[in-house]
Amino acid sequence: HKYVYDFSEGNKDLKDLLGGKGANLAEMTNLGLPVPPGFTITTEACKAYLATGRQPDGLAGQIEAHLESLERAMGKRLGDPQDPLLVSVRSGAKFSMPGMMETVLNVGLNDQSVVGLSAQAGGNDRFAWDSYRRLIQMFGKTVCEVPGEEFEHALDEAKSAKGTHNDLDLDADDLRGLVDAYKKIFLKHTGREFPQQPREQLDLAIRAVFESWNAERAILYRRQERIPTDLGTAVNVVTMVFGNLGPDSGTGVAFTRDPASGAQGIYGDYLANAQGEDVVAGIRNTVPLQELEQLDKTSYDQLLGIMARLEEHYKDLCDIEFTIERGKLWMLQTRVGKRTAAAAFVIAGQLVDEGLIDLDEALHRVNGAQLAQLMFPRFQLDHEFQPVAKGIGASPGAASGTVVFTSARAVEMAAEGKSVILVRRETNPDDLNGMIAAQGILTSRGGKTSHAAVVARGMGKTCVSGADEIEVNVPAKRFTVAGQTVNEGDVVSIDGTTGKVYLGEVPVMPSEVVQYFEGSLDPEHIDNALVRAVHRIMTHADGKRRLAVRTNADTGADAARARRFGAEGIGLCRTEHMFLGDRRELVERLILARAEGERETALEALLPLQRADFEEIFREMDGLPVTVRLIDPPLHEFLPPLEQLAVNVAVAQERGEDVAKEEALLAAVRRMHEENPMLGLRGVRLGLVIPGLFAMQVRAIAEAAVACARAGGVAKPEIMVPLVGAVQELETVRAEAEKIIAEVVGDSGVEVLIGTMIEVPRAALTAGQIAEAAEFFSFGTNDLTQMGWGFSRDDVEGAFFWRYLELGIFGISPFESIDRDGVGRLVRIAAEEGRAARPGLKLGVCGEHGGDPDSVHFFHEVGLDYVSCSPFRVPVARLEAGRAVV
Ligand code: PEP
Ligand code: MG
Repeated sequence: HKYVYDFSEGNKDLKDLLGGKGANLAEMTNLGLPVPPGFTITTEACKAYLATGRQPDGLAGQIEAHLESLERAMGKRLGDPQDPLLVSVRSGAKFSMPGMMETVLNVGLNDQSVVGLSAQAGGNDRFAWDSYRRLIQMFGKTVCEVPGEEFEHALDEAKSAKGTHNDLDLDADDLRGLVDAYKKIFLKHTGREFPQQPREQLDLAIRAVFESWNAERAILYRRQERIPTDLGTAVNVVTMVFGNLGPDSGTGVAFTRDPASGAQGIYGDYLANAQGEDVVAGIRNTVPLQELEQLDKTSYDQLLGIMARLEEHYKDLCDIEFTIERGKLWMLQTRVGKRTAAAAFVIAGQLVDEGLIDLDEALHRVNGAQLAQLMFPRFQLDHEFQPVAKGIGASPGAASGTVVFTSARAVEMAAEGKSVILVRRETNPDDLNGMIAAQGILTSRGGKTSHAAVVARGMGKTCVSGADEIEVNVPAKRFTVAGQTVNEGDVVSIDGTTGKVYLGEVPVMPSEVVQYFEGSLDPEHIDNALVRAVHRIMTHADGKRRLAVRTNADTGADAARARRFGAEGIGLCRTEHMFLGDRRELVERLILARAEGERETALEALLPLQRADFEEIFREMDGLPVTVRLIDPPLHEFLPPLEQLAVNVAVAQERGEDVAKEEALLAAVRRMHEENPMLGLRGVRLGLVIPGLFAMQVRAIAEAAVACARAGGVAKPEIMVPLVGAVQELETVRAEAEKIIAEVVGDSGVEVLIGTMIEVPRAALTAGQIAEAAEFFSFGTNDLTQMGWGFSRDDVEGAFFWRYLELGIFGISPFESIDRDGVGRLVRIAAEEGRAARPGLKLGVCGEHGGDPDSVHFFHEVGLDYVSCSPFRVPVARLEAGRAVV
């Protein structure tokens, strides 16, 4: 079994086996770039080690052989007292896990070879002893679990003895003394001397890197980033090169384009006379990479040449790490670099222009989450506004509002029409009402999966979490930051994309990309690389996709906006939304009516209102299909709350007022009260129980369509029955509806389809029967998830999902992204059995999942005809539907 690959034996496609770093080092080696020689121990070896607790058979021999050939190539031996070869031992998994696993530098140094190293470095004692103390420190901490603070403490003592804060002021003697101190620490904690045998150092370091795969922070990181737990890490053994050998040495990082904007140019930082870890530790400030041109023009030119070569080879933005050792350039790492959402689009467009990739590939390189980010409103920032703190951009958006510290206060002030920012140390389920009422949420603790972050994302609400510079004092109703005090009532602004917090109200504006979708920016005539790239890629996605994209809209204005955003019809018009506000009373009367007369009066009043609603929507959606769902109110949303009604009646009675009417209402509400309204009298059940309700709606839809046709338009109504679980329910509604439609439509040429939602598991499982009575299905994945998992959609997200996410029971809320295995299976069954019973059955989805990128791919795979989502997600769904094809 081959466990060890020389850099010359691998390539960039072997990331599974060699990890990202190893595969790319191999690729660069094969391109003839200056990579320090070395070899990679495979992830297979790591997995075998982790499974058995010992190195697999044959590994030791293979390491030995590769080490020997490395020594031959370098003309040095590992740890040789006169002229030592030194190596670094670096982790490198398939997916980048920055800082999560271990690295040991300078392996091969000991009491003898430190002298040899000094001689080699031209008598540079300081450098040699500094390298040795770094080895003991890193080795002690990562290989032998010596507490890192002990070393840091000793280093601080050495500095204070010297009267300095700067490592660079320590001379060779100081560092020699520090090595002695470090060795004592090592002995105290491990019960043994620091190992002097270079080969033993190497083996122990390799083992430590293997084991670091299961370090607690690595496990946590994988869980958050949804990286599989069983991949293991590769180990790279690389010849050491030194950037700290003097002014003609140094180290740096660079990007081949600007990872923030995508602009072409030179982007990077350089630090002369330093090693990589100094850059990370921020001991000294880096200079822009361009300054290297003055310092070392040869290396600079060579570096630019290599960067161009890498871009052309990887056909993408690359980031690199390099070191210059006494005027000689070495490439230590490269990979396809991370970038912002805007840069992703811009770069993809540029690469097409440069002929490096085609438009299909460009479509691959961007995604819906990035597009969604580009659609959030943004702050109109000028120099007046400087952030006072920076936390984690937990849920994107830009929000300004009055600071409040409690949920109750948030609710109160929101009710007064104020926009508020709820500020907490961290949130918990008791804060839910406040979070709903707030414009944005700011916490001083917690990461991307904290309660605040998860719940805010679920609500689409702006949230900055973990802004730890902020000191929150809830009882005193204030927070302090950067020496300033912010009291309840003051205004702050938070940017949920960047995590930045500003004092005062920063004005917001729609993003350029939204202006483009709205039609107010013409991509052909403006000089805006981002808008042009978005336009080009969206056009390509539209040409490719098989899924149609509709929108969920209940008003003419929403429908019109969605149409501008590219919607090809309405997939869900929730008619109960048309019964809120002034009309609520009419619905209330209807629901509570006991005499037929009362009911008919209420229905007669509603009919013209409904007809006007539909006329407006049909007008906006002229020529496109419009799915109108018959009313589906959980009753509690329409009736006055029982407790409050009871109190009102009691108070009125006390005052001696006439309460006959209120008492009747109270009695009726009591009668209708449900413990579980979501599982109660809603959807088709309500239509079957309240005579005339569905009939009125069907009539309004048909009359509106006919009116539209008479006015020269084309209305394509699709009547959808909610919450069906049995074909008999649908048949009953259908029989009545068909009669009304026939009567209204006459010879107007209007065609009305009748179909159903699939949102009760039983409907999915009896789809073959239900399809007999339905011309289309639309999957209501919100309810299908609720009833499939038995999770109350109104309660669970704030109550315990954060814990489920923490435990990894699911990586994302199943209300946000379709649960492929369970709920998705119901969708698959219903699609297959529905189509088997009625070929040509139209299939769509109108739950929230219709606008979720990953779910869109699933619906494409299952073969649905369209997805339907809220207007702002229409472009995201278009893009992802295109990506699902290429
Ligand atoms: C659904 O359940 O997925 C759906 C679209 O209906 P509603 O969200 O209105 O219950
Ligand atoms: Mg539903």
